[in-house]
Amino acid sequence: MDQSSSTFNETVWEEGNRIVLPVLEGDIECDVCVIGLGGSGLTAIIELLGLGQRVAGIDAGVVGGGAAGRNGGLLLAGWSSFYHQSVEKYGRERALGLYLRTLEQRDMMIDEAPDAIRLTGSLRIASNDEEMADCRNQFEAMRADDLPVAEYIGPEGEGLMIPTDGVYNPLLRCRILAKRATAAGAMLFEKSPALNISGSRVETANGVINCRKVIVAVDGGLENVLPELSGRVRTARLQMIGTAPTDEVKFTRPVYYRWGSNTGNSCQMAGLLSVECGISAAMRNGRINRFPAMRSRRVLRSFFAQSWAFKRRSLIAGPPWPPSTVRESRS
Ligand SMILES: Cc1cc2nc3c(=O)[nH]c(=O)nc-3n(C[C@H](O)[C@H](O)[C@H](O)COP(=O)(O)OP(=O)(O)OC[C@H]3O[C@@H](n4cnc5c(N)ncnc54)[C@H](O)[C@@H]3O)c2cc1C
Repeated sequence: MDQSSSTFNETVWEEGNRIVLPVLEGDIECDVCVIGLGGSGLTAIIELLGLGQRVAGIDAGVVGGGAAGRNGGLLLAGWSSFYHQSVEKYGRERALGLYLRTLEQRDMMIDEAPDAIRLTGSLRIASNDEEMADCRNQFEAMRADDLPVAEYIGPEGEGLMIPTDGVYNPLLRCRILAKRATAAGAMLFEKSPALNISGSRVETANGVINCRKVIVAVDGGLENVLPELSGRVRTARLQMIGTAPTDEVKFTRPVYYRWGSNTGNSCQMAGLLSVECGISAAMRNGRINRFPAMRSRRVLRSFFAQSWAFKRRSLIAGPPWPPSTVRESRS
């Protein structure tokens, strides 16, 4: 499908600032060829350029045309489980190390593309007493390791605030990185799917890249790009439904409700959404649900009860966070 056409389901992050890259035509040479111009591939390209490598990058569609340009835009520190769960699973030292690495990564992302990122903090709202007790465990574990966290009481309910989290525009970020890479000398091509890949040669329909190394930075469908991985890699589907902007619900930061995610059961109900940018999404078991026109906590309950599962991922940090309790009211 032509991802540049208006009939392609357009990401909610589209702001009309698309960059247009050429199709690869003819043969070129470089040190490293990166396949896939999503967040991973572009990050690899920037890193390689910093190491003085001659780099070429190709995408089957357009820059950020995959998940990297159409995801939820949540920028959350830590692992896929809540911090205290990570400590239990990996041990305190490793859990803390992982958390801090994601904070470092956040800082790097801010340096790279400050216009695409907002440090809003995120909320974990308890749905019942049991979850509230778990929030307290998380609070204690984070505080014990001097990680920024506060108890939260506000219009969304009660729980925790992680002040170092935030939101980002993933598509804008990809475009900023692609522009930077091109300006720094990378040869980037769109609509040039890799058809044959070996360690030193990548073939597309109209050209060939001869190189010393190949990096395949393709998330979904990796087993199709590298058939030798089928059986070891299996693509799972996540859904993101963009609707027309709504003012029925407005969250100013990412909110997790009903345990957010649950390791061991990735289909556990989870909530997210940064609705400030006009995204609304409600999907579960492949069924699209409508947002009910209700407010605050009731809205959250209802929305997240219908919401689609999502695993807590990656990064973002900010200033030190002294208060132990944050109280907010909504005007
Ligand atoms: C619905 C959803 C919501 C998400 N929400 C969040 C979130 O809120 N926060 C967060 O941090 N993460 C989120 N994620 C995860 C995040 O989007 C992915 O981890 C990330 O985008 C992976 O980036 P990538 O560059 O590895 O892959 P992709 O973005 O998939 O990029 C791979 C690129 O490779 C290209 N490609 C494929 N085959 C070929 C080929 N043969 N030749 C050349 N190019 C090819 C594709 O066109 C694509 O552009 C979400 C994911 C989904 C699906």
